[in-house]
Amino acid sequence: MALSLVACGSPAEVGTAALGGPTAKPTVGVILPDKTSSARWETQDRPLMAQAFGFAGIEPIIENAEGDEKKFATLADDMIRRGVKVLIITPLTAQGGIDVERKAQAAKIPVIDYDRISLGGTAEYYVSFDNANVGELQAEGMLSCLGQKPGGQIIEMQGAPTDNNATLVSEGQHRKLTSKYDSGELKLVKAQAVDQWDPVLGKKLFDEILSGNGNKVDGVIAANDGLAGAVIEVLKEKNLVGKVPVTGQDATLASLQAILRGDQCMTVYKPIRDEAEAAARLAIALAKGDQDGADDLATGNTRDLVAKRDVKSILLGADLITKPTVRRLVAESVVRPAELCVDDL
Ligand code: BGC
Repeated sequence: MALSLVACGSPAEVGTAALGGPTAKPTVGVILPDKTSSARWETQDRPLMAQAFGFAGIEPIIENAEGDEKKFATLADDMIRRGVKVLIITPLTAQGGIDVERKAQAAKIPVIDYDRISLGGTAEYYVSFDNANVGELQAEGMLSCLGQKPGGQIIEMQGAPTDNNATLVSEGQHRKLTSKYDSGELKLVKAQAVDQWDPVLGKKLFDEILSGNGNKVDGVIAANDGLAGAVIEVLKEKNLVGKVPVTGQDATLASLQAILRGDQCMTVYKPIRDEAEAAARLAIALAKGDQDGADDLATGNTRDLVAKRDVKSILLGADLITKPTVRRLVAESVVRPAELCVDDL
């Protein structure tokens, strides 16, 4: 069926719901990392987590460190002081996570590393996705959008060097790309890490790399949708948008719209509802002191090579989304056609 784009206002992100706020007797504290690197934290993780706890009659304290390591520490100190029974944290850096985990351990408060693990830390549990597979899906998506392009020039815009997920995603990409760079089938112009996954910085850096390469690029690996958006802005300015495949991650509304317009080649859909619910279920078991129940939920293990230990984990699967598969997200009620600004899918 033909797909037509219609004008629509700035839509709310997927799954917005009531926010959690401080309660007199806090049971669970959640610290999200920032408000700029991805739309997901405030528009999906926060409301979905509030909802998951709400179903169990718990009103968690959910805060956002706004990309500020000091604020991250202060928020954690405050939650520990207020006597939360469990802490759920998405650290900005491993060290920031480790520091909070040590203090929580001293106060006998279990910690769940949410989405990002603090390598070298002491968190009891880790809930995330198979992040290396996210990178593999990005490379597959880019290669299939690129088609046969001998010597095709690739620019990689990677995530924050302080986020282990960025490392894993890049590892996954390179399982598919390194042999092609080595054989000369593709040429890597530059792999650029972007501090804090910051799209504003990403835009500036991508612009510099592209200009420095005589505006020549055949494919862009952007590690998430925020960076993809930044890349697309630069490509627009250079009349290259739609001609160069760009990857992403998070299935944000902006990215799904860009995919439907043909500006972005693919994104990776990670069911954040499942991630938020898994973390909430774990936290509720721990808050009740049900250690066995929590262990039953965490069916996997993640090796922390820094701390030399296994961290009990829940690791979820992710999916590759391209133009023809956006409709699957509609079928699964992840997103509504009206939000996508299309009248027909
Ligand atoms: C998350 C991604 C997100 C990125 C930037 C990563 O740790 O896994 O979903 O796009 O951080 O916030």
